[in-house]
Amino acid sequence: TYFSDLGLAQPLVRALEATGYDTPTPIQAQAIPPLLEGRDLCGIAQTGTGKTAAFALPSLHHMVTDAKYRKQKSCRMLVLAPTRELAAQIAESFRTYGKYCDLSVLTVVGGMPIFTQKKKLAGGVDILVATPGRLLDLIDQRAVTLDNVEFFVLDEADQMMDLGFIHALKRIDTLLPKKRQTLFFSATMPKAIRDLGARFLTNPVQVSV
Ligand code: AMP
Repeated sequence: TYFSDLGLAQPLVRALEATGYDTPTPIQAQAIPPLLEGRDLCGIAQTGTGKTAAFALPSLHHMVTDAKYRKQKSCRMLVLAPTRELAAQIAESFRTYGKYCDLSVLTVVGGMPIFTQKKKLAGGVDILVATPGRLLDLIDQRAVTLDNVEFFVLDEADQMMDLGFIHALKRIDTLLPKKRQTLFFSATMPKAIRDLGARFLTNPVQVSV
């Protein structure tokens, strides 16, 4: 399989060419087709497997092709990551794969001035990459709402649990629209993580690499 066979939108094919990728990694080959169909996904995958592109490419595809997703700058996509470093890497990947998509990407994490983040949010954003605690602070300060989220990614769920984000995640769950596409990733899937996933996912495709 080549990326060109997957039916991704032209701006994404161009970005992949510019990046020098022609062959999907196993998780990308498994995940991209069902995600393009709009399915939820539960993935067991570690960092380094190409999972960021596996979730970034289909969501970017929907955002650039589907008329109903054209409501710009309204936080249409939320990606939650457990650490600042991972959030920064994910945002960088969205910028790389989305460089011809004309969508804005913002990272909001703890340890950075909240004032600057509020100012940027006030200007509108398409894709928000966040750590859970800072996201909730910003929601409580009315700097952002999750009302328009159409794509939700929870990355490294096991790390989230280890870092004590369970209550934050449960609260974020109550603030997300019910109708959305959800992707849930974890390096390991013990029962507690599976139960957390069940809270967020609807009839998900399971992939494991
Ligand atoms: P990730 O697991 O998302 O952190 O990705 C791991 C590394 O693989 C990153 O440096 C990506 O840039 C790279 N990568 C992702 N997909 C591909 C691909 N299809 N071909 C070559 N490299 C890739």
